[in-house]
Amino acid sequence: LKLPSEVFAESRENSMGFDLTDEGTLARIDAARNVAIPDAGPLVAGEATGQAVAVINPSTGEEVAKVTEADEACVAAAIDAARPWAAPVAERAAVLRRVAELYEENFGPFFAVLAKEAGKSQLDAVGELREAVDFLHYYSAQAEESDPTARGIFAAISPWNFPLAIFTGQISAALAAGNGVIAKPAEQTPLVAAIAVRLMHEAGVPRDVLQLLPGQGETVGAALSSNPKIAGIAFTGSTETAKMIRRAMADNLDPTAPLIAETGGLNAMIVDSTALPEQATRDIIASAFQSAGQRCSALRCLYVQEDVAENLISMIKGAMDELSLGDPWYLSTDVGPVIDGEAQEDIAAYIANAEKEGRVLHKLDAPSKGHFIAPTLVKISGIEALEREVFGPVLHIATYRAEDIEKVFDAINATGYGLTAGLHSRIDNRVQEVSDALHVGNLYVNRNQIGAVVGSQPFGGEGLSGTGPKAGGPLYLTRFAMAPEASSKN
Ligand code: GLU
Repeated sequence: LKLPSEVFAESRENSMGFDLTDEGTLARIDAARNVAIPDAGPLVAGEATGQAVAVINPSTGEEVAKVTEADEACVAAAIDAARPWAAPVAERAAVLRRVAELYEENFGPFFAVLAKEAGKSQLDAVGELREAVDFLHYYSAQAEESDPTARGIFAAISPWNFPLAIFTGQISAALAAGNGVIAKPAEQTPLVAAIAVRLMHEAGVPRDVLQLLPGQGETVGAALSSNPKIAGIAFTGSTETAKMIRRAMADNLDPTAPLIAETGGLNAMIVDSTALPEQATRDIIASAFQSAGQRCSALRCLYVQEDVAENLISMIKGAMDELSLGDPWYLSTDVGPVIDGEAQEDIAAYIANAEKEGRVLHKLDAPSKGHFIAPTLVKISGIEALEREVFGPVLHIATYRAEDIEKVFDAINATGYGLTAGLHSRIDNRVQEVSDALHVGNLYVNRNQIGAVVGSQPFGGEGLSGTGPKAGGPLYLTRFAMAPEASSKN
């Protein structure tokens, strides 16, 4: 097995992204902002039927465009028409690389829709597009390396928090391996998915090989996860939904059909008394509040060694005060909205309860219009006090005594989740100690704990956080393909 960076380096370096100080780039983004966003709907080989609903801008509460959500007949027809991608691997890879080019050429429309539909800041939009382009190149390179045998038709069920990157990652892995794909985007983000699939079709992915079914989980997700023609499912979303999918698959699909799931996290960071406080503060703020805390990798529970806690907490409060909230379109905005009214109400109720209990140490003001939640710092005794993942800009903080560090490890492991962890320390052997002790997929040392890079930081967790293999890593594609001994190839 080659190291991921080796396979990748032979084909292409990671996407360079977009220079937001370049006037030409900014002019193209600005021009795209004022273009009306077209309505969208199922992109299927058969007839597209369903009901039109409004897609809402979380920053304003206004309608962005309409989407036709697939009904049961539409889902059934799409599954019926679906077929694997018979083209040779070199051709599939060439088409996927063309998709990457089209993505980069269309950054203006992508940025506009990511901001309006998903509340993504420009910084986040750059990250989304880069990661999507990286997935396309990485899985193409891996497929050419291994010439995988397709399993059949994959369902790709993707989340609203990475409506372009994860959406593209799932689809490109399945397609690179030669499968057909039926993609169900999150209810909140069908418009960016529609642009992406149109570009994939334009690049040469056949319309019956890749179909898009926007719609409700209860209709589209439920039908896909219980149809025996589906050979496997790639899913990113909540642990709870993953369990429902698993149950439906167990009852209806071939018992060997894989579920490749990336789910939630209750991610901790440990800051000991040797850490550089300025650096730790910057990385804490990014890990907890970038993307309004709506990343499954985000920092939820910070453990600070008690000797340095007072100082660090006052620095965190000061840094929080510097964050600006508002329309994610502007480069001066650090924290955009949460995804919708339901999320806003849920997180606001959680914060109100913490306030009632006198545990809120610091809180900013949120704009009164739109679905905003102000970054909030909440005191807790330890991670065991968290009953669930609060998916927004809420950072919990606990202190620990140096001699109790092993209890901290135990408490983190006892959550059952195992996605990301952070460590700020300047003690060399502490890195090994933490790495040995914590059961997590991605451990980040002396940096923030979000934004894994395809090909060099394979991303994914263990326990309640997902099934593996990690996205953007050397084994991911193998789950979309037949095991070598089971395929007809020798
Ligand atoms: N891969 C993303 C990161 O490293 C998180 C993905 C997610 O939130 O599902 O921040």
